[in-house]
Amino acid sequence: MQDTTQLGLDPHNWPDFRTHAHELLDHVLDFQQNQRDRPAWQAVPPEVEALAEQAVPLEGLGDVAVMREMVQHVLPYPPGHAHPRFWGWVCGTGTPIGMLADLVAAGMNASAGTFNEAPTRIENQVIRWMLELFDFPSGASGILTSGASMANVIGLAVGRDAILGHSQSQAGLAGLPKALVYASDQVHSSVDKAMNLLGLGRQNLRKIPTDSDYRISLEALKAAITQDRANGYRPLALVGNAGTVNTGAIDDLEGLAAIAQAENLWFHVDGAIGGLAVLSPNLKTRFSGMEKADSIAFDFHKWMYVPYEAGCVIVRHGDLHRQSFQTAASYLEAIPRGIAAVEDPANIRGPQLSRGFKALKVWAQMRSYGTQMLGQLMEQNVADVAYLAQKIQASVQLELLAPATLNIVCFRFVSTQLTETQLDDLNKEILMRLQESGIAVPSSTRIRGHFALRVANTNHRTRREDFDVLLAETLNLGNQLLMEQTQQPVGA
Ligand SMILES: *Cc1c(COP(=O)(O)O)cnc(C)c1O
Repeated sequence: MQDTTQLGLDPHNWPDFRTHAHELLDHVLDFQQNQRDRPAWQAVPPEVEALAEQAVPLEGLGDVAVMREMVQHVLPYPPGHAHPRFWGWVCGTGTPIGMLADLVAAGMNASAGTFNEAPTRIENQVIRWMLELFDFPSGASGILTSGASMANVIGLAVGRDAILGHSQSQAGLAGLPKALVYASDQVHSSVDKAMNLLGLGRQNLRKIPTDSDYRISLEALKAAITQDRANGYRPLALVGNAGTVNTGAIDDLEGLAAIAQAENLWFHVDGAIGGLAVLSPNLKTRFSGMEKADSIAFDFHKWMYVPYEAGCVIVRHGDLHRQSFQTAASYLEAIPRGIAAVEDPANIRGPQLSRGFKALKVWAQMRSYGTQMLGQLMEQNVADVAYLAQKIQASVQLELLAPATLNIVCFRFVSTQLTETQLDDLNKEILMRLQESGIAVPSSTRIRGHFALRVANTNHRTRREDFDVLLAETLNLGNQLLMEQTQQPVGA
């Protein structure tokens, strides 16, 4: 006889729960399979707004009712990342096998990396694979993170401690000469945040000018370091871009590695966008010098199409990596046998203790597709972007705003009838209408001050025809807006 006075959270009726759970899975699979038939984005309707306004639920509705709510009111309204015509920001598309791996990971409720368990083995294997793919030496280490933002924080934390030494990590930065980090003016905003989080200060990130291809100027960098040393400051680290967020530009990583070596600086690479191009032997050659980095941050959830969240940082010197995060807590002491028998727990390689089992979806995806095919898919993304750039260049009404060397294109609609300010406004309107109509989702940026439509292709579902649709619609909207504007009476 079941004791009904005891509370618990498992279903009251397992067979009923199971039936509804299978239905829910079918809804999610339908959603995945039919991406192309849906709008690339749709605004959240009023009933979802209303649901999201509801107060703290004192009494539960029951699991079946909540399953229904999730399917009806949450599942249909994603940002659109999985759609074949979504190219905004740098967003991965996810995969059905990755989704199932997350289901298994959640079902196990595993906290990975800390215990003697299968998840720790899988995560360590993924890290070993990465060290091999990125040509890091033995003795190197790594850890899976929520994304490249956190991977940048960890890489730079290890660099700060390695360069400034033990007394800094114990006593803090007070009283030390101002420590400086160098990167190009295209560096991602997560590095600004890292400066703040690490106590280094945002204004101590020196943003060095870039050349016409948006790559860091090595001459300007060297001059800045020399000047800063003369002023009594302490140059600490260089951050190289393996694909900038604006245009996909790849810094001269060989050149940066040489400067870091000569100046005794930590060399960190932000490879959130391009790092995983090491999966393609053809693309990898463009990132020469990356293998000389002291630490590299990259994202599985961008160009490896893994569902959110999954990033990684690898560190050349594993001992330095562990020094930054090692603590002596009696309740975390390693025990020779049993669950706590873990040689190299993840919590001594990063700030988190409890961690999700992100490695499983990375592992499942790598095992099911193989690195060769994933690399070929990245090459396809690059080739399709070159196709798009070439079509833009061939149109008198479109302007390519930056070289499209990797998987990113920045362009705009142009007309000699309009001023620069009017062009900015018109292109912003095109962007909003493209998104609101659900036709396609580019995002925006500014290129040398000009408002740009920006397409980042980390989408395994995109076909070339999708780019034809984008261009046709951009021209359509541009001409329509141009007509509306020029037909308006003067001064209106
Ligand atoms: C996206 C991105 C980041 C931040 O990565 P998250 O995974 O979003 O935390 C850092 N650097 C670059 C170049 C990026 O594109």
